[in-house]
Amino acid sequence: MNEQSNFDTQVLVNSNVNISDAKLWQFFRLKIGKQMFISKQYTREVLTISNCVGYEENGGEISFGFVERFLKICYLDCCANVCTCEEIPYAIVNTCKLAYPFDVSLDETIDIFVHKEKLPFIGKCETSTECKAVSTAKLLYVCSVVQVKSDTFIVRPVNLLDTE
Ligand SMILES: [Zn+2]
Repeated sequence: MNEQSNFDTQVLVNSNVNISDAKLWQFFRLKIGKQMFISKQYTREVLTISNCVGYEENGGEISFGFVERFLKICYLDCCANVCTCEEIPYAIVNTCKLAYPFDVSLDETIDIFVHKEKLPFIGKCETSTECKAVSTAKLLYVCSVVQVKSDTFIVRPVNLLDTE
């Protein structure tokens, strides 16, 4: 086992994924419905999409992170050449925390209404080194990433119905 597969094994174990008697297959992009998810290791120049995703936690809340790679778990009793395992692949996600720094003040009528709203779809990203295994069934959408000097902002899709 090389360093990366040791790392992935540890991430899966920490995320309570059963990998006993299993072999890991890695791959670098995944199409779910009409949406293409790519990983950091997908090196072809498809730079119109990022590897930043929003995903659903087990409790239902939405978290964000960067997909390092996808892993399919193949159990050892599966025949070798054509995998018959039905398991849903996992994404190894480098998680990040978001802060929402933007307030928008709309002066609808001068001095009478100052309507304050957050912009909940732009978050400032605090990167971490923490990785977790996320079932790809929990991936929700691909986010845009905007780099401003040393700050990274994650912009989640505003109109989820218009992804064509
Ligand atoms: Zn298999």
